[in-house]
Amino acid sequence: MRSFAFHRPNTLYEMSALLGGVIDSVPLAGGMTLLPTIKQRLAAPAALVDLSKIPQMFGIAVTDGVLTIGAMTRHVDVAESAEIRSKVPLLASLAAGIGDPAVRNRGTIGGSVANNDPSADYPAAVLALDATIVTDRREIAADAFFKGLFATALEPEEIITAVRFPVPSAGGYAKFKSPASRYALVGVCVAQKAGKIRVAVTGAGPGVFRIGAMEAALESSFTPDAIAVIKVSSENLSSDIHADAEYRAHLVTVMAKKAVMAALQTL
Ligand SMILES: Cc1cc2nc3c(=O)[nH]c(=O)nc-3n(C[C@H](O)[C@H](O)[C@H](O)COP(=O)(O)OP(=O)(O)OC[C@H]3O[C@@H](n4cnc5c(N)ncnc54)[C@H](O)[C@@H]3O)c2cc1C
Repeated sequence: MRSFAFHRPNTLYEMSALLGGVIDSVPLAGGMTLLPTIKQRLAAPAALVDLSKIPQMFGIAVTDGVLTIGAMTRHVDVAESAEIRSKVPLLASLAAGIGDPAVRNRGTIGGSVANNDPSADYPAAVLALDATIVTDRREIAADAFFKGLFATALEPEEIITAVRFPVPSAGGYAKFKSPASRYALVGVCVAQKAGKIRVAVTGAGPGVFRIGAMEAALESSFTPDAIAVIKVSSENLSSDIHADAEYRAHLVTVMAKKAVMAALQTL
């Protein structure tokens, strides 16, 4: 592993100065993705800027029907939050199903959303719940944030400070997980708010995406049967040693029906 500098700022201002000060400085959250990447020599940053001492990056709060989760909130904290369990239970169960205890004890929502792994769970919830990604510079709507394989709308040195989720009237998440990593082979999140439905899929393709046909069908009838015959094309889906594109396409409908069933239990 190449040597690098390590910084632990206490304020956003200090953090920005450090990230902007030296080329190839990168933010460090829980290190669950970043540290293995460095160890495998797939990344060689000049400096790591640890976000763990910046108070604005933490906290869980519900105000005026909006749940705000600080970017450095760990998966275990989302899974165990009484407030999240009562207001947006799909997020608590999603977080409880991420990886294993070690990953949930270190991994963060901000790191997951910034990394935008095509099989990560949070992107599906962020998109289905029509969340807003709050950065140290601006606010970005979920529809404009995810740009495909590991790509987002974040600019160089731009940091996610929080994610804001409008509290839905109903919502559910279902994933068919890889038995080894627990990442989603296919995960589908369904959310209902003010009569509108959003359906978002992770794991199936190179990035998270919505299914308009399912959203329209569920707005007419919010039941699993309403989407039972809706199939996505396998054309742009992923094929790998775990599952081919045809199988993933099949799983999308299966998981979407399960997500609707889970959502109906939250009504
Ligand atoms: C064995 C294993 C199993 C896993 N299983 C799952 C799973 O089932 N489902 C799932 O969804 N995920 C899974 N993950 C991923 C995990 O949930 C972490 O969220 C993810 O690895 C990001 O880790 P982190 O939060 O520690 O961020 P880091 O590894 O510290 O950072 C990840 C990337 O995001 C950048 N970054 C971090 N924080 C911010 C921020 N606030 N603003 C901007 N950029 C930032 C970093 O510079 C880096 O490029 C798994 C990981 C492992 C190692």
